[in-house]
Amino acid sequence: MPNDLTGQAIAITGASSGIGEATALACARAGASVALAARRADRIEALAARIEDEGGRAVALPTDVADERQARVFIEHAYEKLGRLDGLINNAGVMLLGPVEGADTDEWRRMVDVNVLGLLYCTHAAIPVMKRNEDPAGGHIVNVSSVAGRHASFGAAVYNFTKWGVCGFSEGLRQEVLHSGIRVTIIEPGFVETELLDHNTNPMVQAGAKHRKEEIGKVLEADDIANAIVYALAQPPHVSINEVLVRPTGQRT
Ligand code: NDP
Repeated sequence: MPNDLTGQAIAITGASSGIGEATALACARAGASVALAARRADRIEALAARIEDEGGRAVALPTDVADERQARVFIEHAYEKLGRLDGLINNAGVMLLGPVEGADTDEWRRMVDVNVLGLLYCTHAAIPVMKRNEDPAGGHIVNVSSVAGRHASFGAAVYNFTKWGVCGFSEGLRQEVLHSGIRVTIIEPGFVETELLDHNTNPMVQAGAKHRKEEIGKVLEADDIANAIVYALAQPPHVSINEVLVRPTGQRT
């Protein structure tokens, strides 16, 4: 069966909405058991219940990935509850846009704490846990970067900085862990309809996004990215999908 994840145990951060929620559902429907992390406990508990109602296996583990201790506990609990850890999808992220000059530097800290440090903490905790896997051995770390990790743009400099960091880190990590059978995949979505923009307080950002969306036409849905992630996870152990860039057809940069 194509895209079969039967037997895999997969931990997903940012599973309370958007791409993470869609990916959790897609992984569960492909046969994986899933551990769900996010700060909004009610959302991940409802998602876990929905997956279990559909006959899947899911555990909700409320977590703030920006807190190193909580990130580590998430990975350990995912392993304990699911019995192994085959996949980690580092998806949690925030995008707070605006020019550098005059920016609220607390917003920079939030982006660096979640997009960069949260991803590093979960990865650091997951590598030794994945090395415990036997029959099959190995593991898979999927890091959600962005088109913004390849193309910088006005008003996105600090978000660009965090997503560029995800790409550089992922390639270095790939070279370090390949001999343990651990694969690393970078996912780079273009414009996806989710809650990501809603956290911006600057009205110029909302207006700019609306204009951009009109230019693109049909933007991506979270399921489109979930499908790409499942495809990468479902490859046989000798095949490593290193990087997947997915834009809406109408998106120029
Ligand atoms: P959403 O805002 O819908 O989802 C973001 C997720 O991250 C939520 O589940 C949120 O959960 C979680 N999150 C935020 N902060 C934390 C934290 N401190 N600890 C744990 N979880 C946290 O947006 P998307 O689905 O669009 O975003 C998912 C990823 O995709 C992000 O990394 C984003 O940068 C990336 N991306 C998105 C694109 C788009 O166009 N939408 C394009 C390119 C990349 P909670 O608030 O409950 O903690």
